[in-house]
Amino acid sequence: MTYDRLVCANCAAPVSEGRCPVCRASRERLQQDGPFAGLNPMALIALLAVLIAAVALLAHQTV
Ligand SMILES: [Zn+2]
Repeated sequence: MTYDRLVCANCAAPVSEGRCPVCRASRERLQQDGPFAGLNPMALIALLAVLIAAVALLAHQTV
């Protein structure tokens, strides 16, 4: 999916330049095509923190 030629409806500049919040939002949305497309960074960090806490708790209990 290419977004180089998309023009923003809000600021009429290329979306790839990210001049306004609308540009940046659509640019991020278009760039998210990986396996974590549905997750935002904060959810990912929270998930990682929970995982680390669970592992630490487990390691503590086995000792
Ligand atoms: Zn814009």
